[in-house]
Amino acid sequence: MSDLPGIVITGASGRMGQMLMKTVLASDKARLVGAVERPGHDWIGRDAGAAMGGAAVGVTVTDDPLEAFAQAQAVIDFTAPAATTHFAELAAQARAVHVIGTTGLGPADLDRLEWAAHHAVIVRAGNMSLGVNLLVQLTKKVAAALDADWDIEVVEAHHRMKVDAPSGTALMLGAAAAEGRGTTLDHARVSGRDGITGARARGSIGFSAIRGGDIVGEHDVIFATEGERITLRHIATDRAIFARGALKAALWGQDKRPGQYDMLDVLGL
Ligand code: NAP
Repeated sequence: MSDLPGIVITGASGRMGQMLMKTVLASDKARLVGAVERPGHDWIGRDAGAAMGGAAVGVTVTDDPLEAFAQAQAVIDFTAPAATTHFAELAAQARAVHVIGTTGLGPADLDRLEWAAHHAVIVRAGNMSLGVNLLVQLTKKVAAALDADWDIEVVEAHHRMKVDAPSGTALMLGAAAAEGRGTTLDHARVSGRDGITGARARGSIGFSAIRGGDIVGEHDVIFATEGERITLRHIATDRAIFARGALKAALWGQDKRPGQYDMLDVLGL
């Protein structure tokens, strides 16, 4: 049992943090060795299982990430960009695989991850589910098969607490469409239309975001031309799909060389 890779979960009290802890605790391929929250959080010092409202699991929630990471083979991190870039430096120091589900990272954040990836394995994806990663590949293929007479729009819906838009998954899908078309998202992206926007620019890739209730995550990639339309759709109904994907990534990364990887690498797609 103690030979199993030890996993630390950051943002332990969050929606994904709790789902990740339950997934690791239920797994026979890994063990939970740490749970991290920010200083001052009321979970600090409590047993992680009891804090989630269940039985004690023998892991005390800590606000000292480096100490936790030093005992782990992998860190699974679904938190916020400022926390994730800090954790990347600590995971690199501890030579632990860092699985990053956090979305909304900007160019400066990505530079810091690049530094950390010289020293340790990072697996980062805006969506860790098998279904979405398959959809990414399908989107790339369909975009490559169709010319710019087909307008591409990505529409996403998430729960009311989500803080970033478009979602990380929508950006992954948009980037795949752009790649299929031989361009980049920086060049083609149009987000958040409002007011007199003028006609749609040929070849652009549009994004729309819906926020409401408890929607786990829904994504449509629409290819629309005159007289017909194709919609590729993924609907997530359970956060467990992201947690299972993240755990798979943590195990996959154990024998890999330092560097940055994504779920397409993990899933061999
Ligand atoms: P959430 O419920 O707000 O959880 C985030 C957690 O991170 C909270 O417990 C928060 O603590 C904690 N946190 C923030 N800064 C921290 C720090 N400096 N140190 C320690 N903990 C810190 O959000 P969520 O719905 O779980 O989503 C988290 C992230 O995962 C988002 O970026 C979301 O888009 C992403 N996500 C990705 C996937 C995927 O498959 N890649 C799937 C779902 C979600 P406080 O409450 O104290 O701030």
